[in-house]
Amino acid sequence: MLDIQLPDGTVVSHPDDATPLSIANSIGSRLAKAVVAAQVAGKVIDATGPLKPFDNGSPIPLRLLTEKDPEALDVLRHSSAHIMARAVMRLYPEVSLAFGPTISNGFYYDFLMPHKLTEEDFAKIEQEMAAIIAKSEPFEQFSLNRQDAVSLCKDMNQGLKVEHIETGLASHPELGFYRQGEFVDLCRGPHIPDAGRIKAFKIMSVAGSHWKGNMSGPQLQRLYGTAWFDKKDLQNHLDQLEEAKRRDHRVLGKKLGLYQITPDVGQGMCLWMPKGARIRGLLEDFLRREMLKRGYEPVYSPHLGRVELYETSGHFPYYRDSQFPPLFVHDAGALVDAWARRLSEDETFGAQQETMFLQAAEVLGFDSASYSKAEGKQAKLDALNDWQRNHERFLVKPMNCPHHAQIFKAQPRSYRDLPLRLFEFGTVYRYEQTGELNGMLRVRGLTQDDAHIFCTAEQVEQEFRNTIELTRFVLESVGLQDYRVQLSLRDPKSDKYVGSEENWQKAEASLRKVLEESGLNFTTAEGEAAFYGPKADFMVRDCIGRHWQLGTVQLDYNLPERFELEYAGGDNKSHRPVMIHRAPFGSMERFVGMLIEHFAGAFPMWLAPEQIRICPLSEKTNDYAVELEKVFTEAGFRVTTDLRGAKVQAKIRDAQLDLIPYMAVIGPKEAETRSIALRDRIAGELGTKPLDEVIAMLTEEVNSRRIRQVADKKFAEPPPATEASSHEY
Ligand SMILES: [Zn+2]
Ligand SMILES: [Zn+2]
Repeated sequence: MLDIQLPDGTVVSHPDDATPLSIANSIGSRLAKAVVAAQVAGKVIDATGPLKPFDNGSPIPLRLLTEKDPEALDVLRHSSAHIMARAVMRLYPEVSLAFGPTISNGFYYDFLMPHKLTEEDFAKIEQEMAAIIAKSEPFEQFSLNRQDAVSLCKDMNQGLKVEHIETGLASHPELGFYRQGEFVDLCRGPHIPDAGRIKAFKIMSVAGSHWKGNMSGPQLQRLYGTAWFDKKDLQNHLDQLEEAKRRDHRVLGKKLGLYQITPDVGQGMCLWMPKGARIRGLLEDFLRREMLKRGYEPVYSPHLGRVELYETSGHFPYYRDSQFPPLFVHDAGALVDAWARRLSEDETFGAQQETMFLQAAEVLGFDSASYSKAEGKQAKLDALNDWQRNHERFLVKPMNCPHHAQIFKAQPRSYRDLPLRLFEFGTVYRYEQTGELNGMLRVRGLTQDDAHIFCTAEQVEQEFRNTIELTRFVLESVGLQDYRVQLSLRDPKSDKYVGSEENWQKAEASLRKVLEESGLNFTTAEGEAAFYGPKADFMVRDCIGRHWQLGTVQLDYNLPERFELEYAGGDNKSHRPVMIHRAPFGSMERFVGMLIEHFAGAFPMWLAPEQIRICPLSEKTNDYAVELEKVFTEAGFRVTTDLRGAKVQAKIRDAQLDLIPYMAVIGPKEAETRSIALRDRIAGELGTKPLDEVIAMLTEEVNSRRIRQVADKKFAEPPPATEASSHEY
């Protein structure tokens, strides 16, 4: 008999051949119908597979997974990948299967095949998939030894699978397969009990890819799909994609003249056009005012720092691959750096190459005396590093923190100076891979709304409370009401963390306490903290239901240590401060990019680059229009006048298309009575109002940072899903 422990703690006995599905059946047939997979000690397994007893005889902790569990969607999607592959093989000859993992919101399968798949093929493949699903055939698992596995794949003409077994899986004595009707695939699973569980699916797109990502390897075709337990969920997902496309910040950013990225300036570098710069400036002014009110002090630091600064902070050479390469003042700098790197990476170079290096370096002015005397790798490296330290090297700054730590350190600090809160809209540069770049959301030059708080361990709680409150205030001011916080704590079993046990305990307890008191929706993630301290990340949901990670608050015990930061305590002894890194927006680029999509380009009155457009009926009222523009401008509004000879209807239409919040329509009657026929972009005609009343009304809308309609329709929260996963070996 097997002892099974259910999630509520009860232990029940079942026959040795029990499966999660048979156990579910013993509880009730409705549950059995709902079971998609199971989980034992954190591992997701087939609902129809055997349960293996534990060696120590303790009961098997079993969790039955139904449609409601995030892990179930992943199993469903990978099973859909098998079915899609089966359909493709039925329709086209000579298909070699590569890999078919899940991704967020879906799955793909890579095929090597002569027929070039296009969108026109999708309907046919979907039809074949529907026919397979209608038969509800089971997924059956079996295992083979290496030799039999290879011959089975050879029999099925699956050359890529043979290659994978022989190379990637060389250490596996046994290999698992899944059969579904005539379709057999090398796979470690798990899978749904039968194909009938797939209620909604769709093929999304096709793209090129390469076998195991190797660009010189065979060219594959990657077919993407999505699958859901419910047709409504699929429809919601498709609507969301459609809406996201309509809101794409890369399209709107260009159309509305907000930002540009040009090949001449370089990929991943935003050029803020005047209208985009307006929005950014307004957000920066807003945040700057708030921070000044809350006891922050503005600082500025240069865009460069010496390489040694980042060696002290640990950002160099550790993160070197994601940074722009150093700038060398000496002509031989880059050559010496490259040689030192090769030496330290233990590449073996012959004496001839060393001679060539020395000759080239000497031509560039390198003094090789100490290098030539050095014997052995370490001594040579020391000679090169000494030389480098004597010749300036700079990094385009990847982080602002080291500069702020230096500002703290630039004068003696006492406990009376703490907390010291330094803020800067600091621009940093990261060398993101070309393929990772995405409009304003993933860039190479970004400006963080950065601040560093230096405080005592006792002050952490209050400072954390203040930063959480500031972040909430800021998010809600731009209409982002729907967010949660993820609190990342350390793994209590690990010893990779810096900082004292006492400080960690105190900090984690106070972060948790502050979040509990705040009434915020928060989750904790154990083991997710950085090695240098716990952190809280704000996950924001936009108006179409997508999640964005924005602001972050991070405690740091490491940098104060590395920079030997100190303050004199009340006891006259020196103490180490705690450092808090925080950025409510994250970066201005990403935040504005996100806002463009959230508002679909129609910014609320307080952020709109152009707030009012004056539309005179005819030339006769141009004088009044010009006068109005002056009045509005003096009252602090961003206003333009459309003096074209066009009909007023055309002027209104253009203002609507430009997403201007208000239009001031004026004719002779309005000019005479100093009034305005006001038109609202969303609500339409508001009637004729006296000028003073309009100014008071619009001023109130700006001052209260009123947010109006951002989406026509509410998007449902999609069912929770786990992140992408591989079911391959
Ligand atoms: Zn599989
Ligand atoms: Zn920082």
